[in-house]
Amino acid sequence: MNVPFLDLNAHHAPLRSEFNAAIQEVIDRCAFAGGPVVAEFEEEFAAFCQCKHAIGVGSGTEALWLSLLALGIGPGDEVITVPNSFMATAEAITYCGARPVFVDVDAHTYTMNPEALALAITAKTKAVIPVHLFGQTADMKPIQAVANEFGLKIIEDACQAHGAEYKGQRAGSIGDTGCFSFYPGKNLGAFGEAGAVVTNNSEVYDKIRMLRDHGQECRYYHSQVGWNCRMDGIQAAVLRIKLRNLEAANQCRRSHAEHYSRALCDLKEVIRPTIAPYAEHVFHIYAIRVPERDRVMQHLASRQIGCAVHYPVTIHLQEAYRSLGYTAGAFPIAERCASEFVSLPMYPELTPEQLEWVTDAVREAVSEVI
Ligand SMILES: *Cc1c(COP(=O)(O)O)cnc(C)c1O
Repeated sequence: MNVPFLDLNAHHAPLRSEFNAAIQEVIDRCAFAGGPVVAEFEEEFAAFCQCKHAIGVGSGTEALWLSLLALGIGPGDEVITVPNSFMATAEAITYCGARPVFVDVDAHTYTMNPEALALAITAKTKAVIPVHLFGQTADMKPIQAVANEFGLKIIEDACQAHGAEYKGQRAGSIGDTGCFSFYPGKNLGAFGEAGAVVTNNSEVYDKIRMLRDHGQECRYYHSQVGWNCRMDGIQAAVLRIKLRNLEAANQCRRSHAEHYSRALCDLKEVIRPTIAPYAEHVFHIYAIRVPERDRVMQHLASRQIGCAVHYPVTIHLQEAYRSLGYTAGAFPIAERCASEFVSLPMYPELTPEQLEWVTDAVREAVSEVI
């Protein structure tokens, strides 16, 4: 049996005629760059996130960058985040002129450790970006307490957490802004690049709307210098269709995760994902931790199972950030996870046979190579 890491065709097949009709409509309306279809999606996505406003942009990276700019972060400022994220989280900080500062994560949820956050604050710290890794939110209450004490802005990196909840609040609705990616492989994925910022702050909303469209309030009247970060109309049309199915798709992911975890629960060599008591997890990624990770992955590959590592090198040890001066050992939990993580196939359309094929192969790997 073949179990790809991701199977977008299986997700798209039943919706094909809906996609074709919606894309045709964008063509007929000539609503390509921003415009009415993007506005329709924004309204629906804001409601989904239990937020007042959503702003469609070109990617999750732009969502993070524009959030920082709109919240006034710039040169001389420090922004605290975690080293076990996708590079974009730190890049956005660098691209607004500020300095990324990393703190280690909780050993069970792999999200920001609020105590480490408190210890990393300096007079220059202006904001914090907790990352809702793999589909589970960070522990936001203690992070908010620290942020309130020191007057820090909170930007949620919710790029992996569409529909996740923290104590009943939707990911993205808790901080000053929430940032989403609609990269094709995310829980809500476009047919290309796209992203969104959600916020309850109308001033921040107005600012980001202007920044994403060359700083113009109305056409060709520019009150500030912005950039082109608009969402495509075709992406918005596709996202509107997929958003209607997101809740059900997330439910399938949760049920697959339960199946995986139940089938692997007796293997003491395998650390399974922890669902925090505060969390509604949406399992963008189902990552286990194993010793001899590379050999386990080789074994899974030999059984035609696609797997991946999120992420093999923590951001503070990336060559691109050598100038920040971090060394190996600075963040023991994040670094250890980077050497032990294996992400198993995870998407709503996985069949019971595929799930079993994967867990059987993990069991074989544990007995043969560990
Ligand atoms: C995907 C992702 C991003 C970047 O989103 P793009 O749409 O690819 O720019 C940022 N942060 C995290 C945690 C992500 O997973």
